[in-house]
Amino acid sequence: MGYTYVYLTSNGSLATPERIRAVVDAGVDSVKFSVNAPERKLYEFIHGRDDFDQVMEHLKYLNQYRRESGRDFKIYLTGILTRYTEHTKDDYFKVFDGLADQIVFKDVYNQGGYMPEIDWQLKCTHDKEQTRRCNLPFDALCVTCEGYLSVENADFENMLIVADLNKVSLKEGWYGEKMKEVRRMFLEDCLEGTLCHGCVHHCQSPARPLMPEYATENPDIFLDRQVRERIKAAGLPYTKLVYVPMAADILHPGHINILKTAASLGRVVVGLFSDEAIRSYKPEPYMDYEQRKTVLESVKYVDEIVCQETKDYSDNLRRYRPDYMVHGTDWRTGPLAEVRQSAIDLMTQWGGEVVEPDYTQGVSSTKFKQKVKQTE
Ligand code: SF4
Repeated sequence: MGYTYVYLTSNGSLATPERIRAVVDAGVDSVKFSVNAPERKLYEFIHGRDDFDQVMEHLKYLNQYRRESGRDFKIYLTGILTRYTEHTKDDYFKVFDGLADQIVFKDVYNQGGYMPEIDWQLKCTHDKEQTRRCNLPFDALCVTCEGYLSVENADFENMLIVADLNKVSLKEGWYGEKMKEVRRMFLEDCLEGTLCHGCVHHCQSPARPLMPEYATENPDIFLDRQVRERIKAAGLPYTKLVYVPMAADILHPGHINILKTAASLGRVVVGLFSDEAIRSYKPEPYMDYEQRKTVLESVKYVDEIVCQETKDYSDNLRRYRPDYMVHGTDWRTGPLAEVRQSAIDLMTQWGGEVVEPDYTQGVSSTKFKQKVKQTE
């Protein structure tokens, strides 16, 4: 086969003595523990669970079992470093002294392409790479619990399935046309439209499944707000998230004022109205969604653009749980007045704040459009 390793990962707290013995007795030649901080408080922050002591206990047991059973296998430990834990490298060697044959460090990254917040909130300060290289399609076998061959072991929605091993052999899947196509896409950096594109280029881009018939929706995978809540709870330095919904059909100084105010509060995520959302309360937009997005992408106050699919902001607010929502005072009357109160009520649920910069007098997309019509 053309792979160099097969790996199983699980949090060290799940590696109970019974499981350890079962895995080791099955003849594996190495066991890897993923321990992403060398002390309890940071460990709990990263893993979301206070089981550092349990992991230590299991690691000690594995060493003891190796000595007593005389079995010959390696014990590895990996530490994924974030900007909050990158200073702890030396501590790993003290804390795990004599418990692992090798300790390997990796910088945190948006593996699986689902977690853009990792790039802006957790990424190590020394990590300046723009494009990530990925080895997985070339040397790692990842099999899902359904028995599908995937390019990625964190493929939470089966977006990167390349073969159904219930129907074809592992060898056929690994050398199959789909897998070859994926490798070609990687080599030629033509990943647009796949989950890997966002992961490799540190961005959030729309992704389609490689084999739609195997894709599944998983509403529990969006972790942005959970990551931010954990950072806040741990009292660590934190960048606030600011949500700014807008149609931005004709970008004018009023929009820029709002975006500038938003940028002074934190990281700006623009909820750009879809064409359908605009049509639901205003005339047809002059520019389509992609054109408006292209214009906004070049505005220095904008960090990220997501689609605002309805004129009601509730879904995106619940999804992102921003610290601030910024909206011009013009929504106090007119067609958006009815969604204003529900947005304010929703924001207060998690201690968020609605900021309403004064409406910039004399400018509005509607007025510009009327002017254009008059001069036509
Ligand atoms: S590039 Fe694709 S396969 Fe590689 S880690 Fe990212 S999502 Fe996974």
